[in-house]
Amino acid sequence: MERTYYNGRINEKNVNEEVTLVGWVHKWRNLGSIMFIDLRDTTGIVQIMVNTEEIKVPDIRNEYVIQVKGKVALKEVENKKLKTGKIEIVANEVIVINTAAQTPLIIDDKTDALEDTRLKYRYLDLRRPCMQEILKIRAKIVKATHEYLDAHDFLEVETPLLCLSTPEGARDYLVPSRIHKGHFYALPQSPQIYKQLLMIGGIERYYQIARCFRDEDLRADRQPDFTQIDIETSFLDQDQFLTLMEGLIAKIMKDVKGIDISLPLRRMEYDEAVNIYGSDKPDTRFGMHLVDIKDIFTQSTFESFRLAKSLKCIVVENIADKTTRKVIDNLNIEAKKFNLKGVIVLKVENNQLSGSLTKYLSVEESKALKERLNFQNNDIIIIAASDSNRDVCFGLGALRSSYAKTLGLIKPDTYDLLWVVHWPLFEYSEKEGRYVSNHHPFTRPCDEDIKYLDSDLSKVYAQAYDIVFNGYEAGGGSLRIFDGKVQKKIFEILGLSEEDIQNKFGSFIQAFNYGTPPHGGMAFGLDRLTMILAGTNNIRDVIAFPKNLSAVCPMLNAPQPVDEQQLKDLHIKISDED
Ligand code: ASP
Repeated sequence: MERTYYNGRINEKNVNEEVTLVGWVHKWRNLGSIMFIDLRDTTGIVQIMVNTEEIKVPDIRNEYVIQVKGKVALKEVENKKLKTGKIEIVANEVIVINTAAQTPLIIDDKTDALEDTRLKYRYLDLRRPCMQEILKIRAKIVKATHEYLDAHDFLEVETPLLCLSTPEGARDYLVPSRIHKGHFYALPQSPQIYKQLLMIGGIERYYQIARCFRDEDLRADRQPDFTQIDIETSFLDQDQFLTLMEGLIAKIMKDVKGIDISLPLRRMEYDEAVNIYGSDKPDTRFGMHLVDIKDIFTQSTFESFRLAKSLKCIVVENIADKTTRKVIDNLNIEAKKFNLKGVIVLKVENNQLSGSLTKYLSVEESKALKERLNFQNNDIIIIAASDSNRDVCFGLGALRSSYAKTLGLIKPDTYDLLWVVHWPLFEYSEKEGRYVSNHHPFTRPCDEDIKYLDSDLSKVYAQAYDIVFNGYEAGGGSLRIFDGKVQKKIFEILGLSEEDIQNKFGSFIQAFNYGTPPHGGMAFGLDRLTMILAGTNNIRDVIAFPKNLSAVCPMLNAPQPVDEQQLKDLHIKISDED
């Protein structure tokens, strides 16, 4: 099709050139003898000026596909809203290539359409320039990844989608086998086992832009199928590996945002993240740190402070006058979500502490608090007490984050990247009444902690790391166990029977006998990275064809029932029971 330029790329240098353009009618205004058309393509919008007294204009409506021939002219007054605003095209021919019905949503950055309408007509939603911008950011991240990893000797390898389930902790999507009655494949939650087998296979540096599937309840930042930049390497220690990955992040930031980040990134111990920031994905762009005050209250007359194993607080500045009873009630509701009984709030009013706790506060305790916290007039102190340090930290951490948002403590367009390292290998699951893997069962324990595998699992730390970006977990991974005996032991600790181990991991364990190199890797969440760099907190915005919060694709209406015959072929009967 004849076309001289993309619309968004014409500028003053093209003045007086005869051009042929194509695209969609973004907007049109008929002013009698003159008609203006904003012509849009994937690069942007250019204004067409048609002298309707001189040339015949066909019937034009929004979203018609048209071709325009004309001459580039300098505009008298620049339209600052358009990238091409210094010029316009004086048309001498306008041809309609295709018509369009009235669209069910406004095709513009600002649209009032509900999200389900946007998803139902995603092909129209994708015409909105802001949506195309996001897809371009995503593609740039992928391009930078390919370039960087290729330059560092990584080999891109595809792994199967029809595989055995891997124990990443979520529910699997299952695919029934027609040939093997009653047998199922699982879609990969990640290519974890394959990438480790690739290391055993001698591929020293592997990567893949990998589709992963997890059947979990959806949230704003979760999708049933999502994409990871999946990476595995051999013969690197943790520091060497993190340094290599920092180079990738630096290239992505440079290529996508034009930002030079300073390396090395901060490496924060998991325990510090939890104890100081109240989170395993700390946002370090603002303070409001958690402060331990347990030692101040060892003799307290307030029993729950005296007896609690963990007692910590945060100081929120200059907000006492706005902290009504209702605000405190809400803080308590939030705290309860983290298994806390509630929080105690002290206000600093007229340079005095006030609040229900004050009747229990001794002069020494007040003085010690003032010295430790250095609070000022109109600050509030939020205190949490519990026998579980984890609950205290995560509860206060959540309040810290929500205050940072409401008080606008985070400057827009600031980027905060760090590693959280040295994670506990296991996490105690109250629900299951046993220890479960914090990452996954292949994570290598720290050498010095192996001795605790038989005595105290809470003391075993892992050679694991997460990359945290603006308070989001943007990726994570670990060095892996490469000793078959240790791997078997971990499976046993996690409660797998000999039979389970053989059925699920038989060939994996066997492979360990044939010269397994020390190896480790990680996966970056491509969707999360794109969300952060595109400045959206909705994962559905960064995926061309996402599912809604009920895991439904409203455009194709998937999932759907299938024909009786298809079910028969798969040896499946649908039961009426729920
Ligand atoms: N497979 C892990 C995950 O999906 C990442 C890794 O350990 O490499 O979280």
